[in-house]
Formats: sequence, structure tokens, C-alpha cells
Amino acid sequence: MDCEHAMYRVYEYLDGELTMWRRRAIARHLDECPPCAQGFHFEVELRQIVASKCHEKVPHELRTRIAAALGIEPPPDPGDPA
Ligand SMILES: [Zn+2]
Repeated sequence: MDCEHAMYRVYEYLDGELTMWRRRAIARHLDECPPCAQGFHFEVELRQIVASKCHEKVPHELRTRIAAALGIEPPPDPGDPA
């Protein structure tokens, strides 16, 4: 699994939409790839902040700004129509 796939799958991972096999594959990648693990934790923390502060979806612009402030690559927007 490469990094691009790993980060894309993180959203499904967090939403519980993956099979056990895929979840293990992602977990293994996060163990071996610090940049992806950082992005994963960013997403987890972001969701916790949103859940505690409000019930609205975080705009992609805000996610990008937070990622920039943290000095990491902004996560892909799963809600963005391709
Ligand atoms: Zn990676």
C-alpha cells in the first residue's frame, strides 16, 4: 500500500467502512510511515474537535488551513466530487 492510498483509506478506516484485512493493512502502513501516521492523527484529532465543538462538517478550506498550520500535507477531501 502506498501513501496516497493509505491516506485516502484513512477516512473509510475512521468511518468503520473497511474490512478487517484492509484495516490491518492501513494500521501496518501507519506503523511504518511516520508522515501518514501524522496525517492519521491529524484527522482523528480534527474529528474529535469537531465532535466536541459543533455538529457541522468542517469546510475543506479550514482543514487545509489547519494542516498548513501544522506543517503537514492537507488531507484529501473525500466530499470533493472528482
Ligand atoms: Zn505513508
